[in-house]
Amino acid sequence: MHTVSTVAQARALFEVLPRPLGFVPTMGALHDGHLALVTRARDESSAIAVSIFVNPAQFGPSEDFDRYPRDLEGDCAKLHRAGVDVIFAPDVAAIYPEEFSTTVDPGALGTSFEGALRPTHFRGVATVVTKLLNIVRPDVLYLGQKDAQQTAVIRRVVRDLDLPVRVTIVPTEREPDGLARSSRNVYLSSQEREAAPSLHRALQAVRLAMAGGRTKGDALAAARGLLHPLAHLDYLDVVDSDTFEPIDILRPPAFIIGAARFGATRLLDNIWIDA
Ligand code: AMP
Repeated sequence: MHTVSTVAQARALFEVLPRPLGFVPTMGALHDGHLALVTRARDESSAIAVSIFVNPAQFGPSEDFDRYPRDLEGDCAKLHRAGVDVIFAPDVAAIYPEEFSTTVDPGALGTSFEGALRPTHFRGVATVVTKLLNIVRPDVLYLGQKDAQQTAVIRRVVRDLDLPVRVTIVPTEREPDGLARSSRNVYLSSQEREAAPSLHRALQAVRLAMAGGRTKGDALAAARGLLHPLAHLDYLDVVDSDTFEPIDILRPPAFIIGAARFGATRLLDNIWIDA
């Protein structure tokens, strides 16, 4: 396994790796959710590259960039065991040199839900992913369904800019009690950790109620009632999975999406309604 940190080193390696090359971009602090993406990539590719980069451009000024969990040594050990060929772990200056000024703006898709609460977030995501794809030049890009709106934004960027890569979405890995695995789960106090799975239960309740014929308004109201008192809901809705426009009936392909704060920690979750 090679670990590289400069764009030039990365380019040189990616040119000689066997194809198809699968690529998993991450911000590190790796857990079983990330490893599910790596496993899927390993099953489908001749070589695997993983990037570890906590991207400052996707954090707002009052968000957790400085305290975001970092564990490069532990991450490298996990990726080594998982059979990864190359880890690309650049520092901020390698990705954003001083004169850097270009951004990729995904438009309206990046302005609702997560984008409404984090106005510069998806521009930061779209810019770094475009840049990483140009450095790594993979055949397949692996993304987690856990970040549903991010998958929609990146699929849109790939389509709009004709980026030569296939996008594969991997289902969400969960803790036994249903909580979606996330690097941010380590921030939760024990009480918040107990409260956190109620977000997933609320999403399931929306699915059940709407599948049983209740209106979206009724289903969302009933589901809100299932949230733990420690949960402060940012949004709960049913959206078209490509446009992220709210929809009133559970018509696939759709996502039931939710985001809630537990203390200082924001957690996202969703249920994919497949065709
Ligand atoms: P992050 O390090 O949070 O930027 O995540 C890197 C990639 O892993 C993204 O494509 C995420 O959607 C994906 N991911 C994060 N958590 C999970 C999970 N619990 N299950 C599946 N994929 C995940």
